[in-house]
Amino acid sequence: MTGHSAAPPGPGAVLAPGPAREEWCLACKAWTRAAGVVLLLTPEGVTRAGTWAWCDTCDPTDWRLDHGR
Ligand SMILES: [Zn+2]
Repeated sequence: MTGHSAAPPGPGAVLAPGPAREEWCLACKAWTRAAGVVLLLTPEGVTRAGTWAWCDTCDPTDWRLDHGR
């Protein structure tokens, strides 16, 4: 049990990271963090599935899907 597996989207749907923007990293105290939305591409259209963030220096990629709440 990893406890961190996102349920795969339905057939024909694909998760894709949206455009990145620079963010301030509190840990690094620098503009080293990139963040954006996670888009869910489906045959019906594009919806916002969550957010992602990644810091060049201190963080692995962090995907957060909105499904949890
Ligand atoms: Zn950082």
